[in-house]
Amino acid sequence: MKVRSKLFYERALRSIPGGVNSPVRACKAVKGDPIFFERGEGAYLIDVDGNRYIDYVCSWGPLILGHSHPEVIASVYFASKRGTSFGAPTWQEVELAELIKNCFPSIDKIRLVNSGTEATMSAIRLARAYTKRDKIIKFEGCYHGHVDSLLVKAGSGLATFGIPASPGIPEELTAHTLNLPFNDFEAVEKAFKEYGKEIAGVIVEPIAGNMGVVLPKEGFLEFLRDITTRYEALLIFDEVITGFRIGLSGAQGKFGVTPDLTCLGKIIGGGLPVGAYGGKSEIMSLVAPEGPVYQAGTLSGNPIAISAGLATLKELMKPGTYEKLEAISQKLEEGIKEVLKKLGLFYRVNRAGSMLTLFFTEKEVIDFQTALSSDTQKFAIFWQKMLDKGIYLPPSQFEAWFVSLAHGEKEIEETVEKVYESLKEMS
Ligand SMILES: *Cc1c(COP(=O)(O)O)cnc(C)c1O
Repeated sequence: MKVRSKLFYERALRSIPGGVNSPVRACKAVKGDPIFFERGEGAYLIDVDGNRYIDYVCSWGPLILGHSHPEVIASVYFASKRGTSFGAPTWQEVELAELIKNCFPSIDKIRLVNSGTEATMSAIRLARAYTKRDKIIKFEGCYHGHVDSLLVKAGSGLATFGIPASPGIPEELTAHTLNLPFNDFEAVEKAFKEYGKEIAGVIVEPIAGNMGVVLPKEGFLEFLRDITTRYEALLIFDEVITGFRIGLSGAQGKFGVTPDLTCLGKIIGGGLPVGAYGGKSEIMSLVAPEGPVYQAGTLSGNPIAISAGLATLKELMKPGTYEKLEAISQKLEEGIKEVLKKLGLFYRVNRAGSMLTLFFTEKEVIDFQTALSSDTQKFAIFWQKMLDKGIYLPPSQFEAWFVSLAHGEKEIEETVEKVYESLKEMS
């Protein structure tokens, strides 16, 4: 029964475009209606009709501790009692900056902002200012927030510049963005050969999460490091998802590749709006007021949001957290793979740590094109079946399922069972 969700959705449609404040929430990709939630408890979400779900969206990544973690709630409570915002510096910002720096050796200085989008937008501006060049390389299927110059579709041919992926973006803004296939060494080589001296930087999700989970091919990130160094362009890792999810030092720590700039978000706000970008001192010193590159924010470094982030990171730093996350996520992966085997299905499961995607395709998924070979109709049916059985998955084939520290053996076993039932009903 989703009576109250339905009523709220009808009301929302009259006041909010599409009834939602971020498009994927509308569940259009799975031909469903959005569910309105009342509260979250650990690994569970409870909707306005009182239905309970095991949650694999986890607010799209931030809630690595699960919902309503007591330490996070306490920090938000005490921070709010001291005041909600001062528009002036607080000690919490210094603590968060130092804590992130200690985890990310590539970061000497860091600027806190309010979202991942702000972080990538500012990092691009900074890369352009530092190199005095305009062109940016990004990869198809990687998402870096709704920044004008990064919302591009590939033009025709590999080494042509992008066209806007949304109305309202002047072509002049995307004309400087090259959109290349992820994991394609040759395309990157070719682009640098042709435009090397004009390229300010390469921005990449070191483990892609926004076309579903897609891992970098062996040597791909090292290759990006080498070629950007060779052409004196900057390497920007968008670790808005992977930062503090793949480990305390993100994907860069896992792969041992050092970017010039790093974008963070999601987990570092512990469920409140925080983003950040940071990197080498020499580059970050260009940011105002130390340097001329303007970037500002009324609520940047907001004490309540930063307190939630601090509480989250401190929990993550306790020994054994990532081992536990890995073990439980591996259990989920293996469980799903066993189900597939039992049912004679050859769908693909991609996983990196606690992010996972079940692709409804038999092709190995290594980039956006192969991800697109997935049967999204089937995924939509699967999503609805899982929902009806009390499992809330991201409402799109091209998203990561996020496992949190609140997900235990019991939740994983129940999820695997429901995957079996759902896929069996579909066969
Ligand atoms: C979510 C996300 C963003 C944008 O962050 P917002 O806080 O939604 O603006 C940027 N990059 C990546 C990789 C993301 O997953």
